Amino acid sequence: MLPDRATVLASLQDYIEQLREEGLDGLPAVNQPSAASAGLQPRTADVAAATATMKPATMADSPDEKKLTVKRDDSARQAQSPVNTPANTATELFYRYPGLERVADLDTLREFIGACTRCKLAPGRTKLVFGVGNPNAELMFVGEAPGADEDLQGEPFVGRAGQLLTDIIERGMGMSRNDVYICNVIKCRPPENRNPEPDEVSNCEPFLFRQIDLVRPKAIVGLGTFAVQALLKVKTPISKLRGNWHQVRGIKMMPTFHPAYLLRNPADKRLVWADIQEVMKLLGQPIPPSRSRR
Ligand code: SF4
Repeated sequence: MLPDRATVLASLQDYIEQLREEGLDGLPAVNQPSAASAGLQPRTADVAAATATMKPATMADSPDEKKLTVKRDDSARQAQSPVNTPANTATELFYRYPGLERVADLDTLREFIGACTRCKLAPGRTKLVFGVGNPNAELMFVGEAPGADEDLQGEPFVGRAGQLLTDIIERGMGMSRNDVYICNVIKCRPPENRNPEPDEVSNCEPFLFRQIDLVRPKAIVGLGTFAVQALLKVKTPISKLRGNWHQVRGIKMMPTFHPAYLLRNPADKRLVWADIQEVMKLLGQPIPPSRSRR
C-alpha cells in the first residue's frame, strides 16, 4: 500500500533537512518518469509547501540527467570556478510570492513590497530601504542590509561605508553614483546591525532577485561576505570568492570586500581595486593609470 501524501511530504522534508545539514546545497529538478507513473510525484504546490522553509531546488547541470542526484556544496570548486551555476531559479519567486514574476518594473516592484511585514524585521525598521540608482544600469552593487543611516534615510549606502562606496564608483571608476544601481539583500535593518537570519533572507531575497531580473545589469558587484554568500548560496569565505567571476541569475557577479570592512582594513583596498578593475574591463571602460582614489 502506498503511503499517503502527507507521509510522503513529511519524509521528503526530513530527507531534505538531512541533506542540508550534511552541507548539500540543493536538489536538481529532473524528470522522474518511474515515480510519476507510480503516482508518487507530488504536485508542484505540495513541493512548494514542503520546501517553503528550505533552500530552493536547483536545476541539474545537464538537462539530460535522468537520475535524482544531489549537488554538493563544494566550496573549493566554487572558489576556483570562474562562473558558478546560478543557485536561485525563477520558480523560487513564483513559490513564495505569486505574482512577483509578473512585476514589470522597479516602481511596481516597490509597490508590490509595500509596507512589508513578511518577516520579523518589519517592526524595528524606520524606513524600508529598497534600492537606488539607474533602473537600466550596466552595473549593480549588492550589499548586505541597511545600517542605522540607511534605515533613517531609506537609501542604501549613505553612511561612512556608503561614502567609501561612492568614492569607489566616482573617483575609482569615473562613474556617477546615479549611473549604477545599489541595493541590499535585506531591505530592513536588523536590530543592532546583526547579521540577517536565514528566515529573513528567504523572505526578502525574492525581491532582490526580481530587482536583478528587472535591471539586468551587465555585471553585479557583491559587497561583503554575507551578500555574496546569500547570492551564491555558499558558505565559502569572501577571501576565497573575491577576484573571480561567478554567476547570479545569468549575470556575472564579482565578489569583493564590503566598504565597511575596508574602513577597518584599509590595506585591502588594493584587492578591491583589483576586483573593480576586472569589472571595468568587462564593462569596456578604460582603467585610468593614476586616477585619484583612496
Ligand atoms: S526585510 Fe524584507 S521581507 Fe522582511 S519586512 Fe523588510 S522588506 Fe519585508
